Amino acid sequence: MPEQSTQQASAARARALDAIIIGAGFGGMYALHLLRGLGLSARVYDDATSVGGTWSWNRYPGARVDFPGGPYYCYTFSEELVREWDWAETQPDQPSVLAYLNYVADKFDLRRDIELQTRVTSAQYDEATQRWTVETNHGARVSAQFLICAVGTLSAANRPNIPGLDSFAGECYHTGHWPHEKVDFTGKRVGIIGTGSSGVQAIPIMAREAAHLTVFQRTPQYTIPAGNRPLDPAVTRQTRDNWPQVRQQMIESPFGAPFVPSTRSALDDTPEQRKALYETHWQKGGLGIAFDSYHDILFEQAANHTLADFVRSKIGQIVRDPTIAKKLMPDYLIGTKRQILDSGYYETFNRDNVNLVDLRDDPIQAITPGGVRTRSGEHPLDMLVLATGYDAITGALQNLNPRGRGGVTLKQQWAERFNTYLGMAIPGFPNLFMIHGPETPSVLFNMPLGAELEGEWIRDCIRYLREHRLGAIEPAPGVETAWGEEVAEVASHTLFPLTESWYTGANIPGKHRQFAVHMGGPRYFQKLSKVAGKGYEGFALEPELRAPAAARS
Ligand code: NAP
Repeated sequence: MPEQSTQQASAARARALDAIIIGAGFGGMYALHLLRGLGLSARVYDDATSVGGTWSWNRYPGARVDFPGGPYYCYTFSEELVREWDWAETQPDQPSVLAYLNYVADKFDLRRDIELQTRVTSAQYDEATQRWTVETNHGARVSAQFLICAVGTLSAANRPNIPGLDSFAGECYHTGHWPHEKVDFTGKRVGIIGTGSSGVQAIPIMAREAAHLTVFQRTPQYTIPAGNRPLDPAVTRQTRDNWPQVRQQMIESPFGAPFVPSTRSALDDTPEQRKALYETHWQKGGLGIAFDSYHDILFEQAANHTLADFVRSKIGQIVRDPTIAKKLMPDYLIGTKRQILDSGYYETFNRDNVNLVDLRDDPIQAITPGGVRTRSGEHPLDMLVLATGYDAITGALQNLNPRGRGGVTLKQQWAERFNTYLGMAIPGFPNLFMIHGPETPSVLFNMPLGAELEGEWIRDCIRYLREHRLGAIEPAPGVETAWGEEVAEVASHTLFPLTESWYTGANIPGKHRQFAVHMGGPRYFQKLSKVAGKGYEGFALEPELRAPAAARS
């Protein structure tokens, strides 16, 4: 049988739905809720053992929200939900966020359409039927008009390519695939590679429990005290009483946070005034020191240096051994790698049972059955923790590797650089939508709120297609180029592209450098509305070739 008709026959045999959603985190769960609201049939597939996406996988000690938490880092669409869920802390820990997401799954009766421990092994578009066919590792074959990829921006773990890693004889864990049962560090010699957000959150706790902890640091990090504390009931009350305004303020703020952005430049103040302001923020904790102290920290190098100097001076004050303090001091622009919040990170290096290996001076040569060998010698270990991050933003999509028009795979399509329109759709991949895809604000905006706004846009788009009897939507030729230029242009007004980070793809050997985040925040979401208001301007819309699945089945 020719390939085309084989595909059609297999699509016809597959169970027919309106939409398939991959990923049961914040984005996928809400997409299911929204599509049900349209009366569509949809099913969610997720490899994890529970709903929650990143909050299901990241069970390492110390994992907690590092954004303004409590009533801000959560679903905002249901005022009833905001009123009935009580957050206990300003920076909720991973078990609390996971409990919340399980509560949401029950409250909105989502579970009956979510299949856990189910990995999508292939996804293929058929031009003749305008449908996607998906196969799972359990042998299921399902077809749907729409494929919604809510696969997470930080879900494809980066397992470093260090010689001998597989030969390590002790316990070895990646922070992004942490076991469900408690990992016992007691009495053990533990090593950790990586000092990003995951490492910085885990290190103080591991140090308190382990006999000895060796931290292998490649690039030092600026971290700010998280200032986690019990949530003031008055704040919760006030937030609930003014919920529509609070939600609107977050939608309109640059990072989706309940901050009122400062209008002052760091250079407007004297060094003493600046120091006093930074000190106030440092004592309070949280991201406000970088995001709402002055408006130009992330935009002007001279302004940025004032905060970077302040944090370096804090490291010098906190860490007693000046040699170690110096190794911990970063020299790049603060905030241009993902800003980290910690709970006692720098203080940990005053402990007798902790040592820091600066891999810039003393690189890893190999991992051996008994530990890590650096140039200076062997570090014997019973346990090795990889806090080495992710193939961010594009990795999980490329691992899924859907096949679009003409059988072209996403890996082929993105071999040189990734391209999208609005970060929501990919040329040549009709009826595929992404939540938190590359070239959306994703990781530089309140992620649950951003997922809601993107999900609502997808819901409205699908409603439009159905109302207009359209069978397929995809970016019109060339729009992706202009969109890529817009993303680069917005980023170019900030300091972010000047630093090597996972935002630029620099953390993965061989990955091409391309800034992956639309930094416009509210400007981005206004653009989404504008495109929808103009009948999905920039998209090619195809008439329906056949009746939609729900009508046929
Ligand atoms: P990350 O920020 O990418 O940090 C990875 C660390 O591993 C870096 O220190 C990196 O060094 C190091 N590393 C990678 N490969 C290495 C190698 N071959 N040899 C030595 N060192 C190596 O990853 P992450 O800490 O998992 O955090 C990723 C993102 O997830 C964060 O930025 C944040 O957005 C999110 N996150 C959020 C939370 C939260 O909300 N609570 C918690 C954790 C993570 P280099 O810097 O030199 O590359």
